[in-house]
Amino acid sequence: MEVLLRGIGVGPGVAIGPALVLGASSLDVPKYRATDPAKELGRFDHAVAEVRKEIDATRHRTAEEFGSQHAEIFEAHMLLLEDVAMREEMEKRLKQESLNAEFLVDDMIKRYSKIIQEAPDPRFRERAEDVVDIGTRILRKLLHKENIDLEHFESPCIVMAHTLSPADIEHIDKVNTLGLVLEQSGATSHTAILARAFEIPTVVGLSFTNTAVTAGETIVLDGDNGDVMLHPAPESLRSYRSKQKDEERKKKVLAAQATGPGTTLDAHRMATMINIELPEEITPLSRMRAEGVGLFRTEFLYLDRRTPPSEEEQYKAYSRLAESMKPLPVTIRTLDLGGDKVAPHLMRETEPNPQLGWRAIRFCLDQPDIFKPQLRAILRASVHGDLRVMFPLISGVDQFRQVISILNDVRADLERESIPFRPDLPIGTMIELPAAVEVADQLAKECDFFSLGTNDLIQYTLAVDRVNQRIAHMYSPAHPAVLRMIRRTVKAAKTAGIPCSVCGEIAGDPKFTELLLGLDVDAISMSPSALPRVSAELANMEYSKAKRFANKALRMHSAAEIESTIEKRFHQRRTMETLLKSFENRDENRADSEN
Ligand code: PEP
Ligand code: MG
Repeated sequence: MEVLLRGIGVGPGVAIGPALVLGASSLDVPKYRATDPAKELGRFDHAVAEVRKEIDATRHRTAEEFGSQHAEIFEAHMLLLEDVAMREEMEKRLKQESLNAEFLVDDMIKRYSKIIQEAPDPRFRERAEDVVDIGTRILRKLLHKENIDLEHFESPCIVMAHTLSPADIEHIDKVNTLGLVLEQSGATSHTAILARAFEIPTVVGLSFTNTAVTAGETIVLDGDNGDVMLHPAPESLRSYRSKQKDEERKKKVLAAQATGPGTTLDAHRMATMINIELPEEITPLSRMRAEGVGLFRTEFLYLDRRTPPSEEEQYKAYSRLAESMKPLPVTIRTLDLGGDKVAPHLMRETEPNPQLGWRAIRFCLDQPDIFKPQLRAILRASVHGDLRVMFPLISGVDQFRQVISILNDVRADLERESIPFRPDLPIGTMIELPAAVEVADQLAKECDFFSLGTNDLIQYTLAVDRVNQRIAHMYSPAHPAVLRMIRRTVKAAKTAGIPCSVCGEIAGDPKFTELLLGLDVDAISMSPSALPRVSAELANMEYSKAKRFANKALRMHSAAEIESTIEKRFHQRRTMETLLKSFENRDENRADSEN
């Protein structure tokens, strides 16, 4: 019988395909008396040797594709596989307990999983995570259930997991991942942001643990409305397939749109830019369409590795990016680690409230050895294009001045070393905290531009953790308080004569385009995949009407009222229908002239 699960759609699109359920919990581990410990040890040794071969092959492939520093992560795994203590413990227990090897390996995994949850020291946790990872691989070999390598799936599938980190999404097999279902995540978590960037239909915030979903069975995922259907009936499958086809058609229509600079019907400009997490996201198409990079999230260069990237490595990445977008601007956001982006090698302790903790600029100000090389790399790369730099999670002028003082030290060092850089590199503040909104008039006098990070601004204004699915329904971009904060920030920027952009996820939601336009935002920056749709929306609206609408919305009393008005106006504009119609007409005319 069909089972419909309801979650939050965070990556648009319909996916239909076989489920791939991740996690050791999906393994059924037998327990039986094994009276021949030597035989069990032989099975264990064989499994270890197989895993070693597998990791060695991945290590080589990674080094070839991404460079040797990215292959470092496998060294620890190889060392563990050669660890005599692990083998000795296994040998001892096999003899003493007369149990099968897979049961004892599973027992070891469980023990170390507990350590991961409880150990305060991140180095312990890191090692425990390695043991669990290696143990699971060995266990799969013993059970003849192949290990799932996130980077290479054998065939297209919909991946179902309790959670995946942003780094997992960075590396996941993009060709074969038809869709993602994650139990734990929120709409503006960085895992969700990356899934959207890679255009993977994704649903988060639902539980499938107690459902009888089996690996390989066909499931349906609708990333637009957050539905996941298990055991779909033939008529449901037909209807989803037709929706999928319709979406593909719309996507083609949008892809064929030559989106120029962001302009409304009454010739008002609101620049449309892109957010990127990895330099590879700059494709010829996004290069052609975007008016620049409004946000480069540099922390993705730091994740999933054991040491931070060197100044030289960063300099190369930023220079390449500046060159590839030339003459368009590229805004580099300095390291924003912490929260849901954890680099265990840099963050020593788990925090009780990571979103309120040691993240972003707070971390950088405490870690000049990490911050300064990044600033040097950005300044050095500034001669290769139109670079800008901005700082995340700034709370006020005193903190901003601390940052500028470090930046000035770095500038002085470069001057002393006769290394060229652009002295008037534009410097921006991200407005992500209610505190920053309150003092936006003061901040505006000290910097060259503002960029509203609405993902965090919403989280901190409403006190709703952006990655906690339990309270995800309270994470409301249309809350009157959020609208007023945007308005106040834009006003402060205008008074000081500096531009203000929005680079949070609402910038890529076509339903919010009119509101942001009416709130007089100068630029919006979004995932490259959102750009064609948002540009089409902008080209189909009038600034004068948007302004009236924003003023009206600012007087409303609830998020629900604002949301429903936004929704109504969005459907009334019928942008997509108009575009489809104009394409059909064009195709018909073409067919007529050919006949
Ligand atoms: C934001 O907070 O809106 C933002 C763009 O930064 P991030 O999503 O990386 O926190
Ligand atoms: Mg942010």
